Parts: sequence; structure tokens; C-alpha cells
Amino acid sequence: MDTVAKLPSDALTPTVSRLGQEDIGILLTDIEEVSAITWIVKRILTALSEPFTVDSKDIYTTTNIGISIYPHDGESPEILEKNAAAARSHAKKTLGGNRYYFFSENIQSTSIKHLNVESRLHQALDNEEFLLYYQPKIDTLSGSIIGVEALIRWDSPDAGLVPPYEFIPIAEYSGLINPIGDWVLATACSQVRTWLDMGIEDFSVAVNFSNKQFRNSNLTQLIEDLLIENMLSPENLIVEVTENAMMESINSSMVILHEIREMGVNIALDDFGTGYSSLGYLKNFPVTHVKIDRSFIADIETNERDATLVKSIINMAHGMGLKVTAEGVENEPQVEILHDFTCDEMQGFLFSKPVPHLEATE
Ligand code: C2E
Ligand code: MG
Ligand code: MG
Repeated sequence: MDTVAKLPSDALTPTVSRLGQEDIGILLTDIEEVSAITWIVKRILTALSEPFTVDSKDIYTTTNIGISIYPHDGESPEILEKNAAAARSHAKKTLGGNRYYFFSENIQSTSIKHLNVESRLHQALDNEEFLLYYQPKIDTLSGSIIGVEALIRWDSPDAGLVPPYEFIPIAEYSGLINPIGDWVLATACSQVRTWLDMGIEDFSVAVNFSNKQFRNSNLTQLIEDLLIENMLSPENLIVEVTENAMMESINSSMVILHEIREMGVNIALDDFGTGYSSLGYLKNFPVTHVKIDRSFIADIETNERDATLVKSIINMAHGMGLKVTAEGVENEPQVEILHDFTCDEMQGFLFSKPVPHLEATE
């Protein structure tokens, strides 16, 4: 750890206060050099990275620190606090756990961008600027298309086709994800009806859900209404959730997912392997499908550890009576390996990129 020659004695007795449930403010005064701040911040992070022992269990916490400096980053306590919070949130979102970040104009412009997107998203709903793309899912044994995953796109008049990762987080943050999610669900259900009417049988559409949607206690009713309205059976719909989404609102998600499963709708655990405690979710949530994240599939033909991991996930999921889908399949050798491993379903650019409904119909 760096040492700092010019650390004033005051800096070692800072004012510490609680700003919110998980927020603690630390006021350092008489700091002459920025390196003094980093020295203190690093000591705090190191101290808090040690586990706390409670009832002989080790509990680990993660800490993120945002730093703003008077008068450079603000002249009032309110602005300084707001900017430190923006820097902390930047540290958490872009750098991961146990990091610190100094406030900069850069972060400020991100939040202004954020605001712009939010107000444009409001209009986008009214102006019907969202569309669904569909990516086929292939049955590994027969090679036939057994369903699609619906993936949202925003056809913005000023920005063109915007991918979900650019606006879904903002929609989640602002609460707009609920009306957007309802639209996705309704559109996907009516599209499946169209395909079934064309004589395609045993077909399902998978719809992605954000955790915030599970805080809406009307979700089960909405799904039921849409199934009836479109004369669909529950097997025509798969609800996709990530473990991170489940983790964030574990109690409400659990109740609603059980209700949805009791209706007969299938539930897929998306991006499997990228979250925290995957096995607990398989045990406690009413999951029917596991989708192995494409980061595990990407090097399956060259990396033996990845291959072993994928094989073990498939065996474990099968042992629990679950179906397994491999995401991000891009070449034939991957198909052969997944076939050998008895993976049930595959999805990826090798078969098709996500395409608009007319192309998907073809
Ligand atoms: P996801 O549900 O895991 O969807 C799979 C993503 O992987 C899609 O990205 C798809 O285009 C991409 N992909 C599929 N095959 C391949 C491949 O072979 N190689 C590579 N490199 N990528 C492949 P997309 O469409 O950009 O969606 C990203 C994420 O956005 C989705 O991940 C999902 O979490 C979220 N999302 C999409 N639509 C919705 C929605 O309607 N509601 C919510 N809440 N989230 C959505
Ligand atoms: Mg998905
Ligand atoms: Mg996925």
C-alpha cells in the first residue's frame, strides 16, 4: 500500500455519518494531496474486504467508494454528496466490487444521457417505436426449430436500431420496464398465435423478464389473460429470467414464478453460470429449462475446462429433470460436442441471428 508523507492528523479522525440504508458518508478535511485520499480509501476497502464472523459464519461484504472534492466537484454539501454518489455508482456498475472512483464531468454527462434516454423511452412507447426480433431455438436431436426467443429492439427515429443493453437498464431504473415488458409479452403471444394458425405445431416463444416485473403482482393475471385471449396453451410460453434478476427481489419473484409455473408455463434460467449461487436457484425456483451462457459455449471446442463444465451442467440439469439450452452456438464443432453431451436445445448465430417477424416466419 502507498504511504503518504503529508497526511494531516485531522484526516485520520474524519466525520463519518450514515446517509442512507447502505450509504455511509465520510468527510475528510485539510487534505492537501489527492494521494492522501486514495491512501485512506484503499485502507477502508482493505479493512472492509475482510469477512465479518457472525455465529461462526464468515460474511463477506463489498464496498464501493465515490469521491468528490470541494470546490472542484461542487460548492455545496448537496452537490458534493450527489456527485460522490454518482462516482460510487459508476465504480459499482463499471468496475465491479470493492473499487473507488473520483467524480468527473464524464460521469455527469452519462447521467444527462441517461435522462435523455429516459424521456425518449416514454415517447417511444406512445409512438410504437419498439419491435421484437425472434431467434430460433433448435432441437439438437432432430435439428428442427422448436421455438423462438423474442428479443426487443428500439427503432429510434434519431438513433436507429438500439440494442436492449443500451436501454433496458434505463427502463428498469425508471420503472418503464413494466409497460415495455407488458408490450413485449402481448406482442410475443399474438405472434405465436399467428404462427400456430399457419400450421406450425408445438411451438413456443420465450420472453425475457426483468426482476422489476416480478414486483408487479398483476403479472400472473396478465399472463393468464394473454394466454386466453390468444388461445394459447401454457406450453406455448417460456418465461426467461436471469439468476441476478431473481436474486434482487427473491421473495416477490419466488411467489410469482411459482404461480406462473402452476399455470403450466415453462420457466428458463437465462445466462446460467454467470450469477452467484446457481445451484440454490435450481433447487428453490420452479425452473424447467437452463440456458447455459454463451461465455461457456464460445471456447467449448478448444478449452477442456469449459467443455467439462458444460458437460457437468447438462448432466446435473438432466438429473433434476430440466431441459438444457446452449446459448451462442456459432460453429459446427460446437454442435457436435453439444450433441455428444446430449444438450437438448441450441440457439446461436450459426442457425440464425435474431430477425424481424416476417423473416422469422420464412
Ligand atoms: P439474452 O436473453 O441472453 O439473449 C441472448 C442474446 O445473445 C441476444 O442479444 C442475442 O442476439 C445474442 N446472441 C444470440 N446468439 C448469439 C451468438 O451466436 N453469438 C453472439 N455473440 N450473440 C448471440 P440481444 O438481443 O442484444 O439481447 C441482449 C439481452 O437483452 C438479452 O440477453 C436479454 O437479457 C435482454 N433482453 C432482450 N429483450 C428483452 C426484453 O424484451 N425484456 C427484457 N427485460 N430484457 C430483454
Ligand atoms: Mg434470454
Ligand atoms: Mg442469455
